[in-house]
Amino acid sequence: MKLLADFAHLIRENEPLAPYTWLQIGGLARYFAEPTTVAELQQLVRAAHKENLPLRVLGGGSNLLVQESQSDALVLHLAAADLTAIKIDGHKVTVGGGAKLSHVISRVVGQGLAGLEHLVGIPGTMGGAVVGNAGVVNGDIGSHVVRVTTLDKAGQMVARHAPALQFSYRRSDLEDVIVVEVELELEGGDVTELTRRMQNSWIVKRAGQPPTNQRAAIAFVDPSGISAAELIDQAGLKGAAEGEVSLSSQYPGYIVVSGNATSTQVLALLDRVRKAVALRTGIQLQSHLRIW
Ligand SMILES: Cc1cc2nc3c(=O)[nH]c(=O)nc-3n(C[C@H](O)[C@H](O)[C@H](O)COP(=O)(O)OP(=O)(O)OC[C@H]3O[C@@H](n4cnc5c(N)ncnc54)[C@H](O)[C@@H]3O)c2cc1C
Repeated sequence: MKLLADFAHLIRENEPLAPYTWLQIGGLARYFAEPTTVAELQQLVRAAHKENLPLRVLGGGSNLLVQESQSDALVLHLAAADLTAIKIDGHKVTVGGGAKLSHVISRVVGQGLAGLEHLVGIPGTMGGAVVGNAGVVNGDIGSHVVRVTTLDKAGQMVARHAPALQFSYRRSDLEDVIVVEVELELEGGDVTELTRRMQNSWIVKRAGQPPTNQRAAIAFVDPSGISAAELIDQAGLKGAAEGEVSLSSQYPGYIVVSGNATSTQVLALLDRVRKAVALRTGIQLQSHLRIW
C-alpha cells in the first residue's frame, strides 16, 4: 500500500485502541497515526482518500465505545503541539482540535475570559466537545463557537462560520469531518470571580458523576424534559448489569465497567435499557456514546 510506504515513519499498524478510551475496551486499529503538523494531517487524509481507506478521529476517548472486531480504518490521533495549540487574542480564542478542553478552560479563566468555566470537568478534547456539542444544564460549547476549520474526507480544508454552523442538544453538523481548529468568542470577566465559578462548577460536577478512577461513560442523551438517569431509575434499572458492565447505582446515567468487560456486554446493557424504557414510557433513548 502506497500510504504505508509514504508515511512509514508515522503509521503504526495494529495499534490497540482500548488504552485511548475511558472504558478501556476495544480491539486494534489496522492503521493509526499521530500527525505532527496540520500539513501532515492533510497529506495523510488525502493519501487515505486516494486509497479508499476509511478515516476515524480519536479525541480523548471519553465518549467512545470501540468494538473488539478490527476495523480497516486509519485512526488519527490529534495529539501533537501543532494540533493542540491554544492562542488567546483579546476575547478571541483559537484552539487546535486535539487540545484538552480542561486546558482550554483553565487558560481562558486565567486570562479573565468568561463563558467556558461551567464546562469544567467534562473530559476530552476541543474537537470531541464541538462535534458532540458538549455541555451542562446551563450551557454548551457550541454557543461560543464562531468558526470551525475542518478537513473533509478528501483532505480539503474548509473554514465554516457561525451562524451557518449547526449545534443542537449534544449534536452538531460536524460529524463527518475532522475538526482541525476552533475559534471561540468569549466575554471579559474578573479572574477571581471566574475562578470561584469554575471551582463551584467543578464541585457540582464531581458530585454528580462516578469518581475519575472508575472506567465510566455517559450512556444516553437526555430526552427533552427529563433526564435519562430519571427514566432509568423509574424503570427500576439502577445498578442493572451485563457481565462486568453495569449502570452506576449512584449515578444511573453512567455505565461503569470493570475487569474484562466487552463491547458486547455494553451494547447488550444499552439495548436492554432502551427496550425497558421504551416499553414503560414510549421514549426512545438515543445513545450518547459513539460506537466504532
Ligand atoms: C466522567 C464523564 C463525564 C462526562 N460529562 C459530560 C458532560 O457533563 N457533558 C457532556 O456533554 N459530555 C460529558 N461527557 C462525555 C464526553 O466527555 C464528551 O462527549 C466529550 O466532549 C467527548 O470528547 P472526546 O475528545 O473524549 O471525544 P471522543 O470520545 O474521543 O470521540 C467522540 C466522537 O467525537 C469525534 N471526534 C473527536 N475529536 C474529533 C475531531 N477533532 N474531529 C472530528 N471528530 C472528532 C470522534 O470521532 C467520536 O465520534 C462525560 C464523559 C465522562 C466519561
